[in-house]
Amino acid sequence: MNVILLGAPGSGKGTEAKRLSALTGMKHISTGDIFRAEIAAKTPLGLEAESYISKGNLVPDSVTLNMVKTRLASEKSGLLFDGFPRSLAQAEGLDAWFRETGRKVDAVVFLDVPDEKIIDRLVYRRTCASCGKIYNLKTLPPRKEGVCDSCGGELRQRADDREDVIRQRLEAYRRLTQPLVEYYRKAGVFYSVDGSGTPEQVEAAVAALPGIEKAR
Ligand code: AMP
Repeated sequence: MNVILLGAPGSGKGTEAKRLSALTGMKHISTGDIFRAEIAAKTPLGLEAESYISKGNLVPDSVTLNMVKTRLASEKSGLLFDGFPRSLAQAEGLDAWFRETGRKVDAVVFLDVPDEKIIDRLVYRRTCASCGKIYNLKTLPPRKEGVCDSCGGELRQRADDREDVIRQRLEAYRRLTQPLVEYYRKAGVFYSVDGSGTPEQVEAAVAALPGIEKAR
């Protein structure tokens, strides 16, 4: 079972991927998280990726595809992609690679969230530097300011969650990622879910999809 979570920045892909991975046992693959880890470790890949990410642009397709393929070469479990693919070239590259390795995309879940909600979610998002738990200062604040409820780690704002960078990320999303809705609709594996509710409500809606239930 291989599932792709599709949606704008701030649509809840990361939050839902963590929940669904715990529910189904699928392996959560966040290309954004991988790039951030590479940036923190100051690797050559991290340095290259940072020059794009800090401006709100996508990391080039070939770099991203190679990174995903290398990381997952010997992975046997079902995959839950969060933030990948993000362009037609990446989707086609993933399809070709899946054909070679005997996998297929079983479901693509689009988290549909209105624009005004997206901006609020991004501007007020804070992430635990230790465990990665995601908060929102307005709708899902931590009990103690700046401190993770789960592990006591420090809550930080992502460098690319600033207004000018957010604008560019949304532009890249509309131009390069949104065409994937049609691509996967045509492939017959596309489901759209209302992503504007609470994490629990969205999780319940995704978990009820026929393709997802099969994974449990
Ligand atoms: P995310 O954490 O998914 O919002 O990703 C943060 C940033 O990492 C994005 O704005 C891109 O610059 C970069 N990134 C993550 N995934 C991809 C991808 N599949 N293709 C290209 N760039 C990506």
